[in-house]
Amino acid sequence: MSLFLEDITLTYPDGEGRLTALDGVSLDVPAGTLTAVVGPSGSGKSSLLAVAATLVTPDRGRVVVAGTETGSLSAAERAALRRRRMGIVFQQPNLLPSLTALEQVELMARLDGRGRADGARKRARELLDTVGLGGHTHRRPHQLSGGQRQRVGIARALMNEPAALLVDEPTSALDHERGAAVLDLLGRLTREWKTATVLVTHDRARLTVADRVVELVDGRVGISSASGV
Ligand code: ADP
Ligand code: MG
Repeated sequence: MSLFLEDITLTYPDGEGRLTALDGVSLDVPAGTLTAVVGPSGSGKSSLLAVAATLVTPDRGRVVVAGTETGSLSAAERAALRRRRMGIVFQQPNLLPSLTALEQVELMARLDGRGRADGARKRARELLDTVGLGGHTHRRPHQLSGGQRQRVGIARALMNEPAALLVDEPTSALDHERGAAVLDLLGRLTREWKTATVLVTHDRARLTVADRVVELVDGRVGISSASGV
């Protein structure tokens, strides 16, 4: 189940006129592969993720998530698609201060109308194990390091078995070593869970985890190249 963006143009109101944040961007991300999006600040990386996540509707272009054309969906249908088919990891994981790591992850299933009877707790435990937090399930956010919180966010994003995994600069708050570990983890999870992953990153040193690297410059795809292999 892939993620497919075709000829996306996105503008924002800007004084009297419009600012073009994305200008004819296409992206085809097959299941089980990771596309890294790099580019200077303001080049449109977060805008591209917001469009892929169906949080922002482009002026033009198609967004197809796991075979679903999103252009004609209502806001409620898009929200359901996000809940069921997408995992989204923002720069700051925005965990709920009062919940344990296990509860944060399990909550995703509850929001989708499932609960303990559906094995949500067991699955949440397995996911925390997978991201290396098996021994920290009972901790609340203030008892976790920045890297550990980011990994809770990744486990949470995987809870509902997403077809698409969208990740915006997950390492910006982390030191180099912990950032590298998070990127390696995302590469491994992409292959294991067969997600179509888009990773926005500044961390060019670690692009070997990517199957493809797309460089955005002023809202356009500049250089597109294979990496790592
Ligand atoms: P990046 O993530 O690469 O730093 P963004 O996608 O955040 O880039 O921004 C791309 C361009 O769009 C920038 O010029 C930014 O100022 C502008 N922009 C982003 N979000 C908005 C918004 N909500 N309203 C108006 N302009 C925006
Ligand atoms: Mg950004």
